[in-house]
Amino acid sequence: MKIVIANWKMNMLGREAAAFCEAFKADYTPKAGCEAGIAPPFTLLREVAVHAAGSGVKVFAQNAYFEPKGAFTGEISMGQLKDAGCHGVLLGHSERRHVFGESDENLVKKLKAAWEYELLPVLCIGETLTQRDAGFTLDVLHKQLEVLNATGPGPLVLAYEPVWAIGTGRVAEPMQIEEVHAFIHDELWRLWSDRGLEVPIQYGGSVTPDNFEGILKVPFVAGGLVGGASLDPAKFLKLVGQTQASL
Ligand code: PEP
Repeated sequence: MKIVIANWKMNMLGREAAAFCEAFKADYTPKAGCEAGIAPPFTLLREVAVHAAGSGVKVFAQNAYFEPKGAFTGEISMGQLKDAGCHGVLLGHSERRHVFGESDENLVKKLKAAWEYELLPVLCIGETLTQRDAGFTLDVLHKQLEVLNATGPGPLVLAYEPVWAIGTGRVAEPMQIEEVHAFIHDELWRLWSDRGLEVPIQYGGSVTPDNFEGILKVPFVAGGLVGGASLDPAKFLKLVGQTQASL
């Protein structure tokens, strides 16, 4: 399975989200083996779920808390995401890790909670530029992937997003993506054996319709997690079309 997801981050108001969904739906034809998803901010989840209903587009949240309910002011539970019409949830995005201090320990709990509510988690991993320059890329990814050792297998999408490529306009070179995706593929096999090979591995980091075709040719790249370019329905449609064409 390949999957391309629009990560809107903290962008869009209600009327913009509705206009995006209508424009996207008008030209979107689903294709077996390729999923398209939108990850809007929490306030727009229901709006997008309603507008996307029947189109085949899946709704993802950008984060969630692992506790089912209670005194956790400002947090949203997996059950609440399900209730709002979500299909899945992004977990461990680099902005959550680096701006808000998301820990691997919490990610283990969040993955298990997502599965409990039958949400598809998209686990994001990636190295900073300092870590890459110091030659630690694979060690960092190995450590981030160890959460999957703690959880055991379950439905999952993995997103490799080098932190230095997110929102910077600096996309990773195909050789760099190839090395990492092959490494992640081997790690998934080591951790979950056959179940690990079912996990689609997305690339994320300054993806645009101009560079995505090349990225999709890299072995073990099974779609993308897209920020900036996903705010324009025409560009997102192109990215989905490129993913479908790569099947
Ligand atoms: C992201 O939000 O995960 C991302 C990769 O952003 P951008 O495409 O803007 O680099």
